[in-house]
Amino acid sequence: MRVLGVICAVLAAMALSVPASAEAAKPKITVSLGFDDGDASHAMVGSLLRRYGMRGTFYINSGELGKRGSLTVHQVKVLAKQGHEIGGHTLHHVRLTEVAPLTARKEICQDRKALLKMGFKVRTFAYPYGSESTPVHRMAAYCGYNAARTVGGLTQPGCLECGGYAEPLPPRDKFRIRTPGSVRADNTLEEIQEEVLAAEGKGYGLLPLVFHRICAADEGCGEYSVTPELLEEFLAWLKTRESHGTVVRPLADVIGGKVRPVPGR
Ligand SMILES: [Zn+2]
Repeated sequence: MRVLGVICAVLAAMALSVPASAEAAKPKITVSLGFDDGDASHAMVGSLLRRYGMRGTFYINSGELGKRGSLTVHQVKVLAKQGHEIGGHTLHHVRLTEVAPLTARKEICQDRKALLKMGFKVRTFAYPYGSESTPVHRMAAYCGYNAARTVGGLTQPGCLECGGYAEPLPPRDKFRIRTPGSVRADNTLEEIQEEVLAAEGKGYGLLPLVFHRICAADEGCGEYSVTPELLEEFLAWLKTRESHGTVVRPLADVIGGKVRPVPGR
């Protein structure tokens, strides 16, 4: 009976420990913050993210670096030194489904090769304009990427049926990682927050958010832009979500995998 008593006590202790271990494995949302196109305005984003202890992913068109309105190679190196991920976005921001397959492959592979040569550990890719197809996914894999992100496919404000609040982790298709639509100039802080809150409501997964230009509202910034103030307000709020199990990670870290070479010469 004594032995049985001990066993009962052990079982009771195990049962008591279940809520604690369930708590430790609490589902989390991983947000990855993508800044596309190597816009010159992204130079300030690196330090802004650091202020909140966050690392983002900057999707660069290597063929455009140093041109008017774009980051310079040096500025991208500073972003990498700050701990941010540098990802590829084709040489010249082409619609990959609308150019000849050889051109598409060159745009992806040569861009990645150029970024690697600059010293960046290039592991993830973003399809310009979210323009992708199965053959294009294969090209991104061929060029040595571990994953690729599109734009859209997940639920966003005004389109609740757009398909899920977060990507499952690991994603169903690593070469078609979905996002809510890109953050636009007419989005309010609450709308961007809502995307995170909806994902948290789902419990577990990956929520990649896409930003383009960072631009003061009175400067004729275009549809795909966000003001520096709104971005900072959002980051400050996002930081407070850590206590709800929401963390921010560069996409390559979420996906994992080594830096692979680009095939061919
Ligand atoms: Zn782009």
